[in-house]
Amino acid sequence: MERTPEKTEYRKIVLPEAVSEILQRLADAGFEAYAVGGCVRDSLLGKEPEDWDITTSASPENVKRLFSRTVDTGIEHGTVTVLYRQKGYEVTTYRLDGAYEDHRHPKSVTFTGELAEDLRRRDFTINAMAYSEREGLIDLFGGQEDLRQGVIRCVGKPMERFFEDALRILRAVRFCAQLDFSVEEETLCAMKALAGDLRLVSVERVRTELTKLLLSGRPDRLLLMQETGISAIVLPEWDRLLQGRRGEKYRCENAAHQTLQALFALYDVPFYKAAEKKERQILVYTVLLHDCAEHVGAVLRRMKFDNETIGAVTKLVCCYEKHTTIGKDEAYALRLLASRIGTAWMPFLFAVWRAEIATYKPEEASLAFSSLSWHEALFLEIVKRGECVCLKQLAVNGKDLLALGYAPGKQLGGALSALLSVVLHKPEKNRRDTLLLLAERYLEAGEIPENPME
Ligand code: ATP
Ligand code: MG
Repeated sequence: MERTPEKTEYRKIVLPEAVSEILQRLADAGFEAYAVGGCVRDSLLGKEPEDWDITTSASPENVKRLFSRTVDTGIEHGTVTVLYRQKGYEVTTYRLDGAYEDHRHPKSVTFTGELAEDLRRRDFTINAMAYSEREGLIDLFGGQEDLRQGVIRCVGKPMERFFEDALRILRAVRFCAQLDFSVEEETLCAMKALAGDLRLVSVERVRTELTKLLLSGRPDRLLLMQETGISAIVLPEWDRLLQGRRGEKYRCENAAHQTLQALFALYDVPFYKAAEKKERQILVYTVLLHDCAEHVGAVLRRMKFDNETIGAVTKLVCCYEKHTTIGKDEAYALRLLASRIGTAWMPFLFAVWRAEIATYKPEEASLAFSSLSWHEALFLEIVKRGECVCLKQLAVNGKDLLALGYAPGKQLGGALSALLSVVLHKPEKNRRDTLLLLAERYLEAGEIPENPME
């Protein structure tokens, strides 16, 4: 294939050794093989690809024959994962996709001997390039030019491509966010025309793209989701937020725009920067949904999130506004929060608070920032001193109270939480003798106080 002169403007693609060896082994056996898709795109942009996918003329059987360790990850779609030097590489046989059933999975997959056919089925021009050391870059649809111009453009006719698989409509927005690109005109028109079809796409696939968008650093592309009618289908909460208003102390009046400012601020919070992907996911969804306290659980369940994410985001959203209500007894307020969400989640709470405060007007923000820093330091002290913030840290346990004559169940549970409440107020009371005495007194009085310190 001819090398185009423009190509030199891009970083040279350097295949990882393992990929180069896999391609070589396939070629030696008489098959064509290329790195393809996201890894080629990212290499040309000078970004480190997350993973390297390989496309080949070899059938899955032949791929399995040529490599000693393989996993049938998606054998019906022609994908075999080759385990090579401690890492996995997806090797997929050239294929054509039939019509997409329910807009979910291609109804039929046909293998083809032609690389061109395999590239034609891919969603966008920038994702439809292949590379090998022998053949150089294969760019049949102007992917390099679109990379240069910063444009997301469908391979082929956008209406047809989105009709085949509506998820591509959301993927277009996701790539715009990740790459800071814009959508080509005809592609944009088709997105608007067919956004309603996203209804037919599985929530898991939608969630994956939405999460990538939120983690991209350009959450303002959520606005493009609204303009194209995507969010009306997959995240109506966002459209509602755009109608909402914020109070005096905020820099911006619109609730959705304030949320975007908070997300931008979140990306700069050191805790976020150091966090793992799963933790970042919890943080971004907490900020995104912080206004939907009543139905955050329902939204997350609708999106079929895992239980840990649902639990964490729900708890964090419920405490999101609490930094404004930390009263005079700050240490108590922090211990109380920790008892509700768990000590491990407190840094998450401080991170989203920091993001939220960054959206205040400067005069309000500086005061709030300094009290936040103070609260963070204070909470570290609380942890260091080992002050009790959960039943596990209480100096007495259920067994102790049963020995005093408490009945298991409601009475026992009530007494334990009353004692916890006492030590949340006064950590020095977390002593076995003190608490046993208190528990005895409750028993004698025949009543367990609900708020023992009031
Ligand atoms: P990322 O860096 O997020 O993984 P990616 O481009 O690798 O981006 P994937 O979802 O991993 O995206 O898909 C790999 C490749 O498969 C894409 O580059 C594209 O060529 C093709 N592809 C993925 N999903 C679709 C789709 N829904 N329709 C058509 N082609 C697709
Ligand atoms: Mg990928």
